[in-house]
Amino acid sequence: MKALRLYGPRDLRLVEEDVPRPAPGEALLRVRTVTVCHSDIHYYRFARIGDTVSDVPLVLGHEFCGEVVEVTPGVEGEMGKGPAVGDLVAVEPAISCGRCRYCREGNPNLCDHLLFSGTPPLDGALREYLSVGAEFLFPLPTGFTADEGALLEPLGVALHGWDLAKLRVGASVAVVGCGPIGLLLIQLARIGGAGQIVAVEPLEYRRALARSWGAVALEPDEHLERHVRDLTEGHGVDVAIEAAGTLPAQEEAARIVKKGGTVVAIGIPAEDQLIMTHHVIRRKGLTIKIARRMKLTYPRAIALLARGQVTLEPLLTHHVGLADAEQAFRLVEQYADGVIKAAIHP
Ligand SMILES: [Zn+2]
Ligand SMILES: [Zn+2]
Repeated sequence: MKALRLYGPRDLRLVEEDVPRPAPGEALLRVRTVTVCHSDIHYYRFARIGDTVSDVPLVLGHEFCGEVVEVTPGVEGEMGKGPAVGDLVAVEPAISCGRCRYCREGNPNLCDHLLFSGTPPLDGALREYLSVGAEFLFPLPTGFTADEGALLEPLGVALHGWDLAKLRVGASVAVVGCGPIGLLLIQLARIGGAGQIVAVEPLEYRRALARSWGAVALEPDEHLERHVRDLTEGHGVDVAIEAAGTLPAQEEAARIVKKGGTVVAIGIPAEDQLIMTHHVIRRKGLTIKIARRMKLTYPRAIALLARGQVTLEPLLTHHVGLADAEQAFRLVEQYADGVIKAAIHP
């Protein structure tokens, strides 16, 4: 089979490898769609995120959907409802142990023994086949596409960020950064009962999508704070969710939230720092929460999509095969050609 391995910064190579043999309890998947995340771009550019370094050739890809082509004993699941051959499945990319203190406390995203698809040392999905433990597979209802299956992962990240926001019905929210996660958060804000929804985003085509989902979309210019105050009776929003992964977005989120409000930071900045002006966050007495990926979100993500409460496909703007994957990485890296989300089909 073909696999795409990252040998170092900007050094992706298409290599020929054996199809993996699924261990007992695992299913073999034919990978159908992998969507490119900005965390993949971090590895592509620097071969590292923070102190996690990719020092062996790594297969990237953690937002993906596959078709089950082989199951082993033990995959049947409770009452025979496990994934079966032919099923499309979404895949939880975080492989948690289920036994450590943090897993038992209900925080598998903080597991002591966590492995994550496409993060060293675990190979991800940019290859034709991979095998995954059945407990991490979520069979998709009929009618779901493989592209939607892949996008359930970023929807899960948005859901986890939304959970942290704990927004009360009718309260106001700002989403700073309208990439895929930000645009999903705007959809969640609408169905979650937010009052005023403010989107902050420098790119007009992304602001247009934010507007189409009910947000007032603003540019992050020198008038931003005043514009947000005008929309919120002079106070600022109750909650600001930073989903841009840039230092300016962190500061903007702190500046447009009201006194006593909450900032949820989701983005991963290239500088590996969180920077907000201290007197701003101190005088306002802000609560700042940091999202760590997601946890236990697949069943809700699937339900929201099945009921038509969120739409995912407008986010998918580009499609390429595995051999052209680097094109997709460059598009996402450079915010080129109106890209929101690019899909790679191995
Ligand atoms: Zn991602
Ligand atoms: Zn654990």
